[in-house]
Amino acid sequence: MPNFVVRCAVPLIIVLAMVVGGCQAVTSRAETGKPLVLTTFTVIADMARQVGGDHVQVESIVKPGAEIHGYDPTPSDLRRVAEADLVLDNGFGLEKWFEQFMSGVDAPHVTLSDGVQPIPIHTGDSAGHPNPHAWMSPTAAQTYVTGIEHALSELLPEHQADFAAAADAYRSKIKVIADDLTETLAAVPRERRALVSCEGAFSYLARDAGLTERYLWPVNAEADPTPQDVAAVVDFVEQQRVPAVFCESTVSDAAQRQVAAQSGARFGGVLYVDSLSEPDGPVPTYLDLLRHDLSTIADGLGGAAPAGGAAR
Ligand SMILES: [Zn+2]
Repeated sequence: MPNFVVRCAVPLIIVLAMVVGGCQAVTSRAETGKPLVLTTFTVIADMARQVGGDHVQVESIVKPGAEIHGYDPTPSDLRRVAEADLVLDNGFGLEKWFEQFMSGVDAPHVTLSDGVQPIPIHTGDSAGHPNPHAWMSPTAAQTYVTGIEHALSELLPEHQADFAAAADAYRSKIKVIADDLTETLAAVPRERRALVSCEGAFSYLARDAGLTERYLWPVNAEADPTPQDVAAVVDFVEQQRVPAVFCESTVSDAAQRQVAAQSGARFGGVLYVDSLSEPDGPVPTYLDLLRHDLSTIADGLGGAAPAGGAAR
């Protein structure tokens, strides 16, 4: 006999969402036998699966390939939050859309960027606020994994040893990539160690890797570069003789292709930041995301500099 429950004893905003979406039956913890760990986006969902293993059911609110910054939650998302046994979010202002209803939810709520040294955004409407993309640093990601380990151990103390062992193994794999990062980029000539992206999402990775960061817009919620923004990036690319520029998977690359065409740099490819791919895509896991981005960046920057850039 399937164990369905209809939960309506939830905060007003969720009740309203249920009315809009229909007060449908939802799958309970009793049916799966596993607590529901709900994350805001795919990267931290994968991290939670790596640490939680078979002991938990992990879901991401934002699905693979979708943009997180300006996400618009659905009534079904709101019902899922009411069902969650643990909610994991990134913090640092990434999920502004999420904060509005989290205050009314009873489930434990852990913000994974807690303990990471923030890097402030320098331009745009969010200037002065922390840059949210801390997971792009393999060093900061260790803090995320430890946060997940502790949160799961509180939720299921009987499996604490499993979570500790899985987190240890996972942190070691991330550390290998962090070490490779230094080695891989050591092959790139020092003057070319500049990462030009669409969103300013690489501040933490750039800090780890000793890269200079330039971008067309600070955060995707403000993704609307002016002709002056484009011209400033073109100037930088020409002056530094940057051989390749990049754009991220969840946004349009049109402006960055314009930078490439005007500066003579190559369009170096797609980087993944705000979302994993589908399971059969290029980056189904966070470790794949790091490996893909680092090899794409190293391949691009290791290439020939645009002819005559520094001489102009
Ligand atoms: Zn982003």
